[in-house]
Amino acid sequence: MLCHLTARRVFIFKQFMAARYLSLVQEKAFVNGVWTEAKSGTTFDVVNPYNQSVVAKVPDMSTGDAEKAINSAYEAFRTWQNVPAKERSSLLRKWYQVVDSNKEELAKIITAESGKPLKEALNEVLYGNSFIEWFSEEARRIHGEIIESPVGTREIMVVKQPIGVVGLITPWNFPIAMITRKAGAALAAGCTCVVKPAEDTPLTALALAKLTEEAGFPKGLFNVVTCSRDNAPAVGKLICESPKVAGISFTGSTNVGKLLYKQCAQGVKRIGLELGGNAPFIVFDSADIQKAVGGAMASKFRNCGQTCVSANRFLVQENVFDQFVSMLKQEMVQQLRLGDTTKPENNLGPLINQPQLEKVESIVKDALQKGANLHVGGNRASSVGPLFYEPTLLTGITPDMRCYNEEIFGPVVTVIKFKSEEEALDIANNTHSGLAGYFYSSNMAQVRRVAKQLCVGMVGINEGIISTAEAPFGGVKESGIGREGSHHGIDEYTFIKYLCVGNL
Ligand code: ADP
Repeated sequence: MLCHLTARRVFIFKQFMAARYLSLVQEKAFVNGVWTEAKSGTTFDVVNPYNQSVVAKVPDMSTGDAEKAINSAYEAFRTWQNVPAKERSSLLRKWYQVVDSNKEELAKIITAESGKPLKEALNEVLYGNSFIEWFSEEARRIHGEIIESPVGTREIMVVKQPIGVVGLITPWNFPIAMITRKAGAALAAGCTCVVKPAEDTPLTALALAKLTEEAGFPKGLFNVVTCSRDNAPAVGKLICESPKVAGISFTGSTNVGKLLYKQCAQGVKRIGLELGGNAPFIVFDSADIQKAVGGAMASKFRNCGQTCVSANRFLVQENVFDQFVSMLKQEMVQQLRLGDTTKPENNLGPLINQPQLEKVESIVKDALQKGANLHVGGNRASSVGPLFYEPTLLTGITPDMRCYNEEIFGPVVTVIKFKSEEEALDIANNTHSGLAGYFYSSNMAQVRRVAKQLCVGMVGINEGIISTAEAPFGGVKESGIGREGSHHGIDEYTFIKYLCVGNL
């Protein structure tokens, strides 16, 4: 009897969870607090990269639709900018709570549209939601200053104010976190948002919008405009050039980032860019090789290598080179399991789409044609699914190979041998990118020197995974402008106003 009751409860719970999941999968965009179709009535398919099934259809919006979203955010800003920080904080806190209550369903949506392993998707929801939580707290800590005036009859006051409507254009590799990292800070500062999620992963953004509704957000605060790749340039241009938009925050490819930067120049818009990386991962002779291999696995294979902070070039000092390569190969063969990423036993998913698969494949072919040594992998894993690629390990890498300079964004490890610290730093810094860098060493003087000399915005020292809401995320050189997360993240969405109080 007891067993029967428990089974029934489990059944009811499962039904409830399924209904909750379905209620979060929205097939309309979210504009001015209303679930909306494209004016043209057209839609595009959201495809599961694991098996190519169509998960949902969402509106293929164009500039007219985006204009409405901008107008709604503009109207909402009139009120939101004056809402006391404590109330903004409370509303964000409610959003955090409803996201937390729906974390399992959100993770399923992320896996369905991005192919990310379910466990990683759940971690991403927790990570993404940590930005909402963090910025709900930071909302109350946006402080001004009072500065000593040189004139006795005056007082100099400095206040920080929200910049206005912000356009947030986001990628597919972290469908929730790349939105919350921006929107959390923007809303905390008193800005309102128009989000343009990636065409591969719009459902997570729409689910987030649904949860803003449940958290009681006023209309117009958080708008989501979905569009296909074909419409993205026009919609992006409108968001950059609209006089009602005060700033843009973009995470994505370097090429698109540069285009948006140009488009924002006309209106001298505030811009935050988080673009491609080409992260070096250096292993010095003094390193703990076991730990370095663990860090390499985590940094390289999370999300199938499709993160902008993934290690892209492994540089290993000559005395530990063979040991590192053989231990890493062993880990790759033993640990990585390709397959249906909704199943907990599989930890390596497909690439996001066909162009990405072809890019990874051509980078490996190029290296092999130019003389690289293949230790494992090197082919599509078509028997698992159409977008799978085998975990691949290459050595004998030379500067003429594409993998030496290009961001691979796939499950491919390339290992370069070096002799001296100076040589490692030369190779590491010889790139236009500068997002993350990693190194393993147990020599404290070397740790200090190398940390200082790596030309990147973030350094993992004896660590392969470093992102957290508390720390500033961002790059130097062509990897970007501005910082997200941490207390610096709010600065992207505020401007400084000087008030001179005279004749006192
Ligand atoms: P990826 O190549 O990894 O898809 P992109 O930089 O192309 O990276 O895409 C990141 C985001 O930028 C997505 O939301 C995409 O739709 C958007 N995007 C792509 N091209 C443009 C463009 N010309 N203007 C504005 N947004 C764009």
